[in-house]
Amino acid sequence: MCKAMNRSIVNVIFGGFGATPAASSAGPAPEGEVTSISVHDAAELLRESKSIVIVPGYGMAVAQAQYPLYELTKLLRSRGANVRFAIHPVAGRLPGHMNVLLAEAKVPYDIVLEMEEINHDLPETDLTIVIGANDIVNPGALEDPSSPIYGMPILEVWKADRCIVLKRGMASGYAGVENPLFYKPNCDMLFGDAKKMIEALLADLRQQLETKIA
Ligand code: NDP
Repeated sequence: MCKAMNRSIVNVIFGGFGATPAASSAGPAPEGEVTSISVHDAAELLRESKSIVIVPGYGMAVAQAQYPLYELTKLLRSRGANVRFAIHPVAGRLPGHMNVLLAEAKVPYDIVLEMEEINHDLPETDLTIVIGANDIVNPGALEDPSSPIYGMPILEVWKADRCIVLKRGMASGYAGVENPLFYKPNCDMLFGDAKKMIEALLADLRQQLETKIA
């Protein structure tokens, strides 16, 4: 876990990031513009995408969104889409947190992949969808030497054609740092509670599919 967070064991246990807002969060806003997407447009993107990677984080756990998320996954897979989950080693707040929640929802193990197994596939992915995750997809960890999380390996979700980030607002994550991902031109924010929004996506997608058949 220390390796995945790029921190010492003492730092992980007794302090470091998460305890206070990091200095860099008060710095200049990242370049670019934050754009949001509607449920309907996000559902359309899901409908059109052939390869989809879902990145769950702490917000999925808080919202208990894993159950509707698997319903959505089943619907997309039934239409032939390649849908996989990407698990960062420190996603959530406990080791294995995401794996436990996805197993609870009966997501099959063979579509749940570790970061090292899936990061290299992201440039060939149509759509990444980030569910209540923040630090584990923060490009500052790769690009900004002044960031407190610099050096932490992350899921490079912006390398896909399109990326949607589902969270309630622009709040930072555990590390308390600004996330330049939200400002990338191929990234759109879907604002709301993870469970409610996934239920809404599922309902909209079902409606789009029915309308197409009718
Ligand atoms: P983060 O804490 O970085 O981000 C979680 C995001 O979830 C927040 O920015 C929040 O944004 C959003 N969120 C919260 N509630 C909801 C909700 N109901 N619906 C939708 N979104 C929600 O989580 P990550 O999983 O990305 O990263 C884990 C962090 O925890 C890392 O920094 C890691 O180092 C640290 N950590 C992990 C441990 C582990 O063992 N896994 C142990 C100790 C620390 P908003 O409020 O805008 O919705």
